[in-house]
Amino acid sequence: MPTKTVATINSTGRQAASFIRAASAVGWHVKAQIRNEEGLVAEELASLPNVEIVEGDLIGPRRSQLLTRLFNNVNIAFINTTHWGDEVAIGKACADAAKKAGVSHYIYSSMPDHSTFGRNWKALPMWSSKFAIENYVRQLGIPATFVYTGIYNNNFTSLPYPLFQMELQDDGSFEWQAPFHPNDPLPWLDAEHDVGPALLQIFKMGPNHWKGQRVTLAFEKLTPLECCALFGRGLGRPVNYVHGPIELSVSVPSGYREQLEILQETLGDKRAPYFPDLEYPSEGRSIWEGYRGIEEYAREVFPIEEYANGLRWMEEPSVAGTPSEAGAPTDDGEPFGAPRNGSRPITPAGPAHPLHVSGAYTPRSHPEGLDDDFFVGST
Ligand code: NAD
Repeated sequence: MPTKTVATINSTGRQAASFIRAASAVGWHVKAQIRNEEGLVAEELASLPNVEIVEGDLIGPRRSQLLTRLFNNVNIAFINTTHWGDEVAIGKACADAAKKAGVSHYIYSSMPDHSTFGRNWKALPMWSSKFAIENYVRQLGIPATFVYTGIYNNNFTSLPYPLFQMELQDDGSFEWQAPFHPNDPLPWLDAEHDVGPALLQIFKMGPNHWKGQRVTLAFEKLTPLECCALFGRGLGRPVNYVHGPIELSVSVPSGYREQLEILQETLGDKRAPYFPDLEYPSEGRSIWEGYRGIEEYAREVFPIEEYANGLRWMEEPSVAGTPSEAGAPTDDGEPFGAPRNGSRPITPAGPAHPLHVSGAYTPRSHPEGLDDDFFVGST
C-alpha cells in the first residue's frame, strides 16, 4: 500500500513532472492532473508506476468537478499554477478543494510581489498572482508551505526566445543578453532535476516543520557573469554576458510582454533583488544536496535539449578558443577547470543514444510549444 497519496496539477510542467518522477520512484501514489494526454511528458507520466492520470482542463465550467475528483482520497498536494487561464481563480479553487478534502500538507509554488516591499517597485504580473494565491492559502488556514523557485537552468536555449536566449555566434561561442546588472546575484535552479527531490524532503519532514514557511528552491546564487563563466566551462566554449534590454524577436502573449517589460524595469533598471528578503542557496542545499548546478547542466543537458530542438551546433567545432575565466566564482579558491564546490561530478555516461534523454523537457516537448513563432514564457 502506498504510504501517501499526493495531488498535482499542470503535471506535465517542469516543476510538477520533476516531483511526480521522484514521488512515483519512492512508491507514493500520485494523482496527476493533466489537460490532455498529448506530448512526451504526458506519455511518460502515464507510464510511471503509482501515477494515476486525472485528465481535464482547469479552465472552464468543469473545474470544480475535476478538482473534486483530483482531491478525492488525497492527503498531501503540490500545486503549481500557471498563467494559463485565470490563475488566481484556479489557485483559490485548488486550495478550497484541498481544504474540503482535509489535506494535511499543501505545498504551493509561489513567487514574490515586488510592489509589497515599499520600494516603489512594480509587481511583476505573472508573479504577483502567485503571491495573491499564497495569501489566500494562508487565510484558509490549511497546513501549507510556499516554495519559491529560482530561474530554471533550462530556460536557456539558442532559439530566439526572449530573456534567456543563449545566442550562438559565428565563431561557435555563445552570448546571453539580459537586463540584469552583471554583478547582481540571481537564484538558479535545475527545475527538472531538483524540484522533485527537494519537495519530497519537505513533505517527509512534514507540516510541523514547514507550516507557514517560505522555502527558496535555488541551489546556486550566481551573478550573470558568474553564470556565463560556469556555463562556458561546462560547454567548453566561451559564453559572454551582454548587459542589455530584452529583445523580442518572436511573438509572445501580451501578458508575457508586460511581464518582461516590468521585469526589465524592476529587476534591471531598479536593481530590485529577484527574491527580496529570501535566503538562498543554503536552505535549499540543506534540504537537497544532490542538485545539478549550471555548469553540469551546460555540460550534460544543454546540448541534448538543443539537439532535441533540431539544432546541430554541437556537431561543429568551435573556433572561439577556450572559455574565459573572467567572472568565474572565486570564493572556493579552486583553480580554473577544477570541479567547484557544489558542482557535481560528471554523471557516468549512459549507453546507446547519447543525444536522447527520456522525459527531458525541451520547449517543443509540449504540444503548445510546437508553433515555431510562439513562446509560452519562461519566468
Ligand atoms: P512549464 O512551463 O514546464 O509547462 C507549462 C505547463 O502549463 C504545462 O503543464 C501545461 O500543460 C500547462 N498549461 C496549463 N494550461 C495551459 C494552456 N491553456 N496552454 C498551454 N499550457 C497550459 O511549467 P512549469 O515550469 O512547471 O510551471 C510554469 C510556472 O512556473 C509559470 O507560472 C512560471 O511563472 C513559473 N516559474 C517559472 C520559472 C522559470 O524560470 N521558468 C521560475 C519560477 C517560476
